[in-house]
Amino acid sequence: MSLYQSAVKQFTKAADLMNLDASMRDVLSKPKRELTVNFPVRMDDGSAKVFTGHRVQHNVALGPAKGGIRYHQNVSLDEVKALAFWMTWKAAVVGIPYGGGKGGVEVDPTLLSQTELERLSRRFFSDLQVIVGPDKDIPAPDVNTNGQIMAWYMDTYSMNVGHSVLGVVTGKPLEVGGSLGRTEATGRGVRVCAEEIVNYLNESGEINKSIDDMTIAIQGFGNVGSYAATLIENELNGKIVAVSDISGGYYKADGFDSNELMKYVEENGTLEGYNGAEKNISNEELLELDVDMLIPAALENVITEENADKIRAKIIIEAANGPVTPEAEDILLEKDCVLVPDFLANAGGVTVSYFEWVQSLQWFFWEMEDIRNALHRIMKKAFGNVIKCSNKYGTDMRSAAYVFAIEKVAKATKMRGIFP
Ligand code: NAD
Repeated sequence: MSLYQSAVKQFTKAADLMNLDASMRDVLSKPKRELTVNFPVRMDDGSAKVFTGHRVQHNVALGPAKGGIRYHQNVSLDEVKALAFWMTWKAAVVGIPYGGGKGGVEVDPTLLSQTELERLSRRFFSDLQVIVGPDKDIPAPDVNTNGQIMAWYMDTYSMNVGHSVLGVVTGKPLEVGGSLGRTEATGRGVRVCAEEIVNYLNESGEINKSIDDMTIAIQGFGNVGSYAATLIENELNGKIVAVSDISGGYYKADGFDSNELMKYVEENGTLEGYNGAEKNISNEELLELDVDMLIPAALENVITEENADKIRAKIIIEAANGPVTPEAEDILLEKDCVLVPDFLANAGGVTVSYFEWVQSLQWFFWEMEDIRNALHRIMKKAFGNVIKCSNKYGTDMRSAAYVFAIEKVAKATKMRGIFP
């Protein structure tokens, strides 16, 4: 099953639950626009190489399309469609006025020099200009893209139209219209979900353990994983016993100092060579550790029907997009695992992106405290809405989040009507 088919399968489960009519299913399960561009880039040795990139706008009933752009050798149109699809529900679940979009370039950026990366980024964004814009579609960083690349995107668009347009991308550096709190936002949203799910399970009597008594494993120590780790440790006293990245996994029963790990990665690029662990483990072993909470924060499809049975964590917070396949989820739910679904758990990023866009459009910038408070309020409210929906329909959190989001987008779609 392709990633997009998995995403539609999740959607169909929720659509069945809420008796969504056939034509609305048809509208909501297909992307509105798919653009693929093949574009040449001048390499440092003087040759030209053609790269392929995609941008998909899934649904724009609630507002302009919004979603990141990733650079990865495994990017495909199918993957981008699935990620755009999830963005629609993510924006709707947290209640921000956006539709879903996503983009990607099929490239291993580690094989490019900085100047090649800049030329690739500028040319790709220029080719996307037919569909992106501050009122149309607003990209952001994702895997292997960052603030520098967003600055190039913003500058490219601005050069093309002849004036500065800060609101065309988010995730920009502070110097060029970025928002305070954007870098930590997704991790901070994961931290809010970690606190809320533990509170909820204690209140409902499903567990009797506070978060400062829990052991936590985090796969992926990039933007999302590293902030989730430090915030859960610093603000909630959770014990991070295992972390991993592309270089492998690291285990320490007494718990890591996540701030130290973050500093190590800042200085060394990855966790490779970190010698403060009790033992080195593989990424697969990390997922199967006997911990209370597991946070996959790297790539999709890491928990499948092959390993779902071996997962021992009671709580799984999907910080990455699509880390659990539908088949694996059935097995996990059967074992009474509680899954906080990706498009709720990692919605902190798009929420602060929304704050950044509002600030960029107004050329008026907020204080960190305002941003953290507003993010906390929105995430907590969204989490509560999903729990309410889950209790109302007697269903798991992913289906409940879909039902809540689909209801919103379907209502807007119906009110707007079909043109002409
Ligand atoms: P990132 O590039 O900053 O970090 C990715 C991390 O995963 C790195 O530590 C990397 O070493 C690790 N990794 C890569 N391949 C791996 C492998 N095969 N096995 C184990 N680890 C591996 O990316 P990120 O921004 O932290 O994004 C991580 C996930 O979160 C993605 O699924 C992304 O779509 C999702 N997400 C990100 C944001 C955001 O704001 N950055 C928002 C929402 C969702």
